[in-house]
Amino acid sequence: MQETIHTLVVGGGQAGIAASAHLRKRGIPHLVLERERIAERWRTWRWDSLVTNGPAWHDRFPEAEFEGLDPDAFAPKEAVADYFERFATDRALPVRTGVEVTRLERHGDGFRATTSAGMIEAQSVVVATGPFQKPVIPTVIGDPAIIQLHSSAYRNPGALPGGAVLVVGAGSSGAQIAEELVRAGRKVFLSVGPHDRPPRRYRGRDFVWWLGKLGKWEMKAPTPGTEHVTIAVSGAYGGHTMDFRRLAAMGVTLLGRAGGYGDGILRCADDLRINVETGDRNYLSVLDEADAFARAQGLDLPEEPEARALGPLPDCVTQPVLALDLRQAGIAAVIWATGFQLDFGWIDMKIFRADGRPRHQDGVSEVPGLYFLGLPWLSCRGSAFIWGAWKDAERLAGVIAARR
Ligand SMILES: Cc1cc2nc3c(=O)[nH]c(=O)nc-3n(C[C@H](O)[C@H](O)[C@H](O)COP(=O)(O)OP(=O)(O)OC[C@H]3O[C@@H](n4cnc5c(N)ncnc54)[C@H](O)[C@@H]3O)c2cc1C
Repeated sequence: MQETIHTLVVGGGQAGIAASAHLRKRGIPHLVLERERIAERWRTWRWDSLVTNGPAWHDRFPEAEFEGLDPDAFAPKEAVADYFERFATDRALPVRTGVEVTRLERHGDGFRATTSAGMIEAQSVVVATGPFQKPVIPTVIGDPAIIQLHSSAYRNPGALPGGAVLVVGAGSSGAQIAEELVRAGRKVFLSVGPHDRPPRRYRGRDFVWWLGKLGKWEMKAPTPGTEHVTIAVSGAYGGHTMDFRRLAAMGVTLLGRAGGYGDGILRCADDLRINVETGDRNYLSVLDEADAFARAQGLDLPEEPEARALGPLPDCVTQPVLALDLRQAGIAAVIWATGFQLDFGWIDMKIFRADGRPRHQDGVSEVPGLYFLGLPWLSCRGSAFIWGAWKDAERLAGVIAARR
């Protein structure tokens, strides 16, 4: 089969669906190819109890609300996947599922895509294959008695073997999974690296509202030195601030960054206290900025001085375990909440940096007609999030229309 289309969109997650909606508005003939189902990663790459990190009024496309969900609630992951599927179906967007693009190359002044269902030629291509493509597992623990899985493969506490669990990484995924496990009665160890942990709500407003007001979603690049800082937030249990003191009080043993492994021992860096205290400083800085903004704008929001009371550091932080004997600790499973890599091996063009990221300006690559969408910091901090992908898609559809 050989087809020709003006614009080919690869990937039918939120970014691909947003691209299609905006290309449709511009009247640009296009086709979205998705190798599995629409929003597949919301369905099968995330744990059962996951809800969005932002409330429903925020984590959505501006054009459509979540049906039957309080705007201040946090949407369950299946509802998110259904939302994107319904969005595409209601608008009859041209999405073809079950078709994988296995190769993309230049062809004349356009492109040729080899797919699992034949060849497609296109003038423009929007690559929307996701910000989180290949699970990263940095340290290999060579103990066959211990189950190891990436956070994208974790489902629920009952699906793990009995015993203690080590969760490595305390961004939103690791911190949320650790909390779920300790609530389920598991003994949990959580390795905590550098992180930001904004307040869930402050002075009656959700932190996503504050980030908007403070212009943080629109930031063009991470503050130098914070590129590897993860963000720990949660919408679970109605949404609350990710506070590592609270997790410790619930029974989680906090550890520093996981290092090397040998002879049954996992070495942990002596950086736990500094990571927790730096996270606290980030938390307090958001309160300071919010207060300054409220003052400057004369906003009538209730004061919340108690939000500044952090309490003492737990013993596991002041006297951290630096060498964890996994068997002695009864660890039966390790969950690597250590993030993802990009994987553009199927794109046959020399436009990638050594770290695998494409060279581009706000999603417009060096190759005329080739665009990227949905990547972290594509044009701003919000780019990999639902509403950010929508805004980037709108802009890129304009670029494609102008070129056409
Ligand atoms: C645990 C977790 C929780 C998150 N929570 C939130 C949240 O609450 N709010 C928020 O705004 N963001 C959240 N995000 C970030 C972001 O919204 C999601 O990662 C989202 O899935 C990204 O959408 P996307 O369309 O860019 O990519 P993806 O959802 O990854 O979609 C890409 C699609 O491309 C398809 N694909 C890949 N390669 C090919 C190919 N070669 N051919 C055809 N199809 C292909 C894949 O099957 C996939 O369906 C979260 C991320 C994670 C990991």
